[in-house]
Amino acid sequence: MEFHLDNCIFCKIAAKQIPAQIIYEDDDLLAFKDINPAAPVHFLIVPKKHVATLADCTTEDAALLGKISLLAPKLAKEQGVGYQADGNGPGTGGFKTLFNTGPDGGQEVYHLHMHVIGGPRPWRRSLA
Ligand code: AMP
Ligand code: ZN
Repeated sequence: MEFHLDNCIFCKIAAKQIPAQIIYEDDDLLAFKDINPAAPVHFLIVPKKHVATLADCTTEDAALLGKISLLAPKLAKEQGVGYQADGNGPGTGGFKTLFNTGPDGGQEVYHLHMHVIGGPRPWRRSLA
């Protein structure tokens, strides 16, 4: 496992060197609640392996990105903001998923993470 423990806060969370409200963990991924939530439900899904941004991902990371994307609706449901299709209309519930990339994308932590954001609006921050 490649950790960047000296300078990466999410690597430190993955290595359990600093605490976080972890809601999911497996061999490749970790999910934890955002410390400054933008909405009633706001958590982050991160790879345990250090990748700085979405733009740094390669085809070797395709499975990892797929795992992150598939985990989002599962955890959103567990956190009470799942999406229910109704077959005809738009359904109910739901959540937003977001990767910020680089300064112009609003990225502050340079360890790849998907934001999963949901719950009753209005939300607190405009990253949505
Ligand atoms: P971004 O702007 O996409 O890089 O988002 C980074 C997110 O990480 C922000 O929403 C922060 O509130 C969140 N964050 C920063 N430090 C921590 C931490 N120690 N535990 C949980 N979330 C954090
Ligand atoms: Zn890292």
